[in-house]
Amino acid sequence: MVILEDQQEKKTRYSVLVVDDDPEIGQFMLDCVERLGHEVEGSNHPHEALDSVAKKNYDIVVTDLRMPDMDGLTLLKRIKTLNDDTEVIVITGYASVENALDCINAGAVDYLVKPFSVEQVQVALVKTIRHMELKALAKERERYLEMSYEDALTGVYNRRFFDEALKLEIIKSSRQENPFCLLMIDVDHFKNFNDSYGHQMGDEALVKLGKAFKSVCRGYDIVTRYGGEEFAIIFPGASKEMASIICHRLMNEVANVSEELPNTLLSGKLTISIGVACFPNDARTGRQLIERADISLYEAKRSGRNNYKIYGMF
Ligand code: GH3
Ligand code: MG
Ligand code: MG
Repeated sequence: MVILEDQQEKKTRYSVLVVDDDPEIGQFMLDCVERLGHEVEGSNHPHEALDSVAKKNYDIVVTDLRMPDMDGLTLLKRIKTLNDDTEVIVITGYASVENALDCINAGAVDYLVKPFSVEQVQVALVKTIRHMELKALAKERERYLEMSYEDALTGVYNRRFFDEALKLEIIKSSRQENPFCLLMIDVDHFKNFNDSYGHQMGDEALVKLGKAFKSVCRGYDIVTRYGGEEFAIIFPGASKEMASIICHRLMNEVANVSEELPNTLLSGKLTISIGVACFPNDARTGRQLIERADISLYEAKRSGRNNYKIYGMF
């Protein structure tokens, strides 16, 4: 992950809004922040400050805690509602350090106690900037993690995710005695499709199929690309009767996709064959379940394609 950090172009100039009803302290803070090389604006009124925050995504807001119209804690909460990525530093007197701690609990990054020096402002800003960098890095890591489970072409889950999900589903299903179905889907005569319309059109068809499969499924069904032109779908809680209904829906949806693809009339429609096996009825392990679903798929192909077969029912 160090690579990620190195790849990022490091931002050094941040936009800062200083909010203080005391013009002297406000000006001192403005000068400090400007001297440290950041872009700074000032406001003497919390309401005006909120308007500015709503219009512009400041990186950092430095605000006094005690102001006539609105206290700093309220301002902080409103800022965080408007834009959680804007970080807030609060300024407080010795007498109200406790309030500053409330602000930290409400999402402020740091606080400065009056009177403060330029160096103290610098330390608070550096801490805040580091905090922002770490947050951005965490977000990026999360995105990379998501990407490593995503099939790059179709956007459905990839094989790696399928393997993990199947293991998990078997554990969950065994504990809760809740059956689930595995559907192995293979596009019929896809080699011909590629040969007739080119690989790119083939890719496009796979993307459309991935979307179509997802549109038929519920949020917790797991749609994956098993490899090549094969998809695997895990249907938690589905019986064989439900699987049969799902297969019909999937095939109907593929018929719609086929209509959208140009020129498919030249070599017939795009169709799929589906093989179904259910846990725990048909298999004791994940590997066995895949084998049995494959046997069903083979049977669907053998009996003419554009078809589905359910293990134990042929
Ligand atoms: P069957 O009905 O027996 O499944 O026939 P088929 O032609 O689909 O079967 P086969 O396994 O012979 O061919 C699979 C084809 O799928 C060949 C391959 O080029 C194509 N394919 C696999 N992955 C991709 C892909 O990512 N993009 C494209 N465009 N084609 C792919
Ligand atoms: Mg195949
Ligand atoms: Mg095929």
